[in-house]
Amino acid sequence: MRYVDEYRGEAEAQRFANAIRQCVTRPWTLMEICGGQTHSIIRYGIDQLLPPEVSLVHGPGCPVCVTPVELIDRAIALARVPEVIFTSFGDMLRVPGSTTDLLRAKSEGADVRMVYSPLDALGLAQQNPGRQVVFFAIGFETTAPASAMAVWQAAEQGLRNFTVLSAHVLVPPAMEAILSAPDNVVQGFLAAGHVCTVMGTWQYEPIAERFGVPIVVTGFEPLDLLQGLHMVLTALQQHRAGVENQYRRSVRREGNVPAQRLLDRVFEPCDRQWRGIGTIASSGLRLVPALAAFDAERRFDVRSVTAEESPECIAGSILRGIVKPVACPAFGTRCTPERPLGAPMVSSEGACAAYYRYGRTGRAIASTEPRTPRARPRTTPRTSDP
Ligand code: SF4
Repeated sequence: MRYVDEYRGEAEAQRFANAIRQCVTRPWTLMEICGGQTHSIIRYGIDQLLPPEVSLVHGPGCPVCVTPVELIDRAIALARVPEVIFTSFGDMLRVPGSTTDLLRAKSEGADVRMVYSPLDALGLAQQNPGRQVVFFAIGFETTAPASAMAVWQAAEQGLRNFTVLSAHVLVPPAMEAILSAPDNVVQGFLAAGHVCTVMGTWQYEPIAERFGVPIVVTGFEPLDLLQGLHMVLTALQQHRAGVENQYRRSVRREGNVPAQRLLDRVFEPCDRQWRGIGTIASSGLRLVPALAAFDAERRFDVRSVTAEESPECIAGSILRGIVKPVACPAFGTRCTPERPLGAPMVSSEGACAAYYRYGRTGRAIASTEPRTPRARPRTTPRTSDP
C-alpha cells in the first residue's frame, strides 16, 4: 500500500493553487532545497500552476550534483588501487571527473561495485578479508546516519579492510551561504522533509531569524509542495519570518535524536568544497579523530589528487538559484543525460536532468517520459537528496 494518492488529488491541488493566486500581490523568489522536490515540481508542473509573480529556483540539495570533481577524481584514484573494491550508489558511477568516470574506470579493470547501502559495503568487507573495501559516502543528513552506522559497526567488529570516502554535506551551512551571497535572490525556502525527519527543524530557526526569511519544511508529493508554497508565500505577504512544518506526518522539531547522537559519535563538521559553489565553512562531515583509521583518504593518501571544475558547466549558478538549467549554453546540446558534461544532468535528483526529462527545454527535445507520469518503483540505488 503506497499512501500517495491522497497527496496527488487534482481538486485539492487546484484549491491550493487558487489560494496562492489570491494571496500573492507582488513578486517573490522561492527556493526548494532538495533535488527530489525539484523533480516533483517539474514533473507535476507545479511551477506552472503559480501566478507569474512567483519564481521558483532550484537549490543545492542534490548530493551527486554538489560533490566536487576533485572528490570524483579521488574516488577514481581509489578505485584503481589493485587491492580495492570500490563501492558506490549507482548514480555516482556516471558523474564526470576531470577526465573519466567510475563506470569507465570499471570498464578498464577497476573493481567498482554498485551497492544499495553502506551496510552492503560492510558486508563485502566481511566477505573479502584479503581486499580493501572503500565506500563512497555521499549525501546529506539523510544518508549520513547509515554511513555512520557502517563505520560504527566496522569499529566494533575490528574490521581493518573497510574505509569510507566521505563526501557528506550539511544543509544549514549551504542555506546560510546562499543567503549571505551578494547576488542572492532567494526570499523564502521549502526545506526538505526527509532531512528534517532526521535532524528536526530546530537547526533552521537561527537561519530564519538571522536572515528574516520564512522556511517551510515540506514533503515531496504535489499537495505537500503546493501547501508548503502557500505557507511560505503567506508568511512573506504578512512579513513573517520563521520555521513552519508542513510535513507533520514525518517531521518533529527535535528530529531523530538517536540518529543525531550516532552522527555526533562518528562524524564532525569540516569545511567542504561544493561543486561550482566553492568551499563552505563547516558544511561537510569527516570522521572524528578516534575513527580516522576508517578514512579512505588517509589510508590511501589520495589527498594530493586535485582537479578543477569544467568551465563549461554552470552548475554552481544553478545550484545557488541564480539561473535555471535552460540558461546553460550546453543544455540539451553538448550536455544530455546520455553524454553529460556536469553532475546535475546525470543525477536522478539533478535540476538539469529534471528539465531535460520532463521537456522543459524551450526547444524540441524528446522527453524520456510522459509529462504527467505515475511514480514507478525505484530500480537504481541512489543517494538520498536532502
Ligand atoms: S546543462 Fe550540463 S553543463 Fe550545463 S549546468 Fe547542467 S550539467 Fe552543467
